[in-house]
Amino acid sequence: MGYSKERVQKAVDARWRESTERRRNRRFWKRVVLPLNFDNEKCWGWRGSFFQNGYPQLWHNNTNMKGNRLSWEINRGPIPEGMMVLHTCDNKGCVNPSHLYLGTHTENMKDASKRGRHKSGEDHYHFIRTEGVVDRCKDLRRCYSADEVAEYLGIGRTTVYRCLNAC
Ligand SMILES: [Zn+2]
Repeated sequence: MGYSKERVQKAVDARWRESTERRRNRRFWKRVVLPLNFDNEKCWGWRGSFFQNGYPQLWHNNTNMKGNRLSWEINRGPIPEGMMVLHTCDNKGCVNPSHLYLGTHTENMKDASKRGRHKSGEDHYHFIRTEGVVDRCKDLRRCYSADEVAEYLGIGRTTVYRCLNAC
């Protein structure tokens, strides 16, 4: 019984996949902020960078990956083609797998407009600069103290309070 070239290549590929996956998972968990007292009802924070639209991001294998998609893949399994990973908690920065569900783009838009988050026609730059952070503060504040919110978002407490008071 010999080793065919294909068999060896297959083994090497599997090894490589396994090690990059492990590295990805390690980097993911390093950035997750678990709720106090392991209260899984609460959102999981993200101590890392965010996309401009407020979703957590992780650079992996030359791709900028969305934290909520990663969380799904790591904790639940593969994401079917064309499906989006959506939030039940309406907190874009959350990576708690039990707050995530699979849906289509249409469902996402429907949800967003129902919640009044969809801001069509509004100046995009303005949205990122101000309301992105304001929304995230308000979302997180439902589950967390102002101090915790400040820590998650990497902003000062005063900014948090200013965001919470903004309408
Ligand atoms: Zn959540």
